[in-house]
Amino acid sequence: MHHFNYRENELYCEDVPIRTIAEDVGTPFYLYSHATLKRHFLIFNEAFDGVDRLVCYSAKANTNQAVLKLFESLGSGLDIVSGGELYRGLKAGFSSDRIVYSGVGKRMDEIDYALEAGILMFNVESLEELHLINERAGLLDLKAPVAIRVNPDVDPKTHPYISTGLEKNKFGIDRETAIEGYKVASRLDHIDVVGIDCHIGSQITEAKPFIEALESIKRLIEELRGMGIEIKYLDMGGGLGITYDDESPPHPREYARAIVESLKGTHLKLILEPGRVIVGNAGILVTQVLFRKSGRVKEFVVADAGMNDLMRPTLYKAFHAIEPVVRGEGDPITADVVGPICESGDFLAQDRKIRNVKKGDLLAVMSAGAYGFTMSSNYCSRPRVAEVMVKDDSYHVVRNRESYQDLVVSESIPPFLGD
Ligand SMILES: *Cc1c(COP(=O)(O)O)cnc(C)c1O
Repeated sequence: MHHFNYRENELYCEDVPIRTIAEDVGTPFYLYSHATLKRHFLIFNEAFDGVDRLVCYSAKANTNQAVLKLFESLGSGLDIVSGGELYRGLKAGFSSDRIVYSGVGKRMDEIDYALEAGILMFNVESLEELHLINERAGLLDLKAPVAIRVNPDVDPKTHPYISTGLEKNKFGIDRETAIEGYKVASRLDHIDVVGIDCHIGSQITEAKPFIEALESIKRLIEELRGMGIEIKYLDMGGGLGITYDDESPPHPREYARAIVESLKGTHLKLILEPGRVIVGNAGILVTQVLFRKSGRVKEFVVADAGMNDLMRPTLYKAFHAIEPVVRGEGDPITADVVGPICESGDFLAQDRKIRNVKKGDLLAVMSAGAYGFTMSSNYCSRPRVAEVMVKDDSYHVVRNRESYQDLVVSESIPPFLGD
């Protein structure tokens, strides 16, 4: 359920015709619906009612300050994967004791920053990282709260690039090494073992892999208890999928029911790190058709947004529905919707049946709220696009479109090149 709907032949975000925003801010731009963001967070959070839990929204899906602020105000915690995300989270008002920090490659300065901020826990992904955190915490005379990210070796049946819980993936620590890790951690002076963590992948469209992972983690928790190591937090990660095309992922309530059922009788505090399921369908990318072009074997719609603005189609062959902002006349066409970038991989859709569109028409690239703007780049010196948030009948630019000056502001010419 989202708040991007047609009235007559015109696409609205909540009560605002998207065309009017495009006229005001230009194209391309990301557009987020406040009501959808809020609804998705609340549905997910309330699905776990009655259970001691902390939902830590996964920042990397969408880190706009306005989006973060909204979730913070709704009682969310935050899952971060970098010092930059910690900075953004603190800036948006998240209390540091509601922040969990995952990622295989935490740098020393990032670890120090998180220790000084006093985050809830580090999700540790290697023994070397564990030792580094212990060492840095020692220098700061602190105890670092840690969970070990365990790789339960279950197949999430998703795109290989977003599957993270298989033994061949770089993430987490296999069960045997994790037990070793817990033994070591429990003896380190500046480590406080508080949790266990797993995150098996993203865009997962069935409940089974989550439950398999959970069962495996539960057995591990029992084993650790037998060794005198008590686990307080069970972090299930994120990964619940959304409908881009015809997928039918479990509803958050179904997902929650399965997890809660499996956790009966334990006294663990549950941590969840949803990203995509909260923001994915709460955002779209609005782009304008620059040209139509008929090749000998293909029909092309050239849009003013490309792979630098929305990388998912190029990176994962991901499907995003493409709808006209104003529905016109004519039979549907089958076309490649491509961007202006000098790469053959630069497409938003391939061989797609869409409504007939012409030069100047606006297109809505749907389900672009997650891993859209955050993955965008300046490739081909394209300024990053604006982000806009709608609430009811008004809208606000929550990130200005970058200017040409922004492109070079951090660059300098060395003296030996003259001026
Ligand atoms: C990316 C990520 C998430 C969020 O994944 P979604 O599929 O967007 O829910 C959660 N936890 C970790 C550790 C991640 O890397």
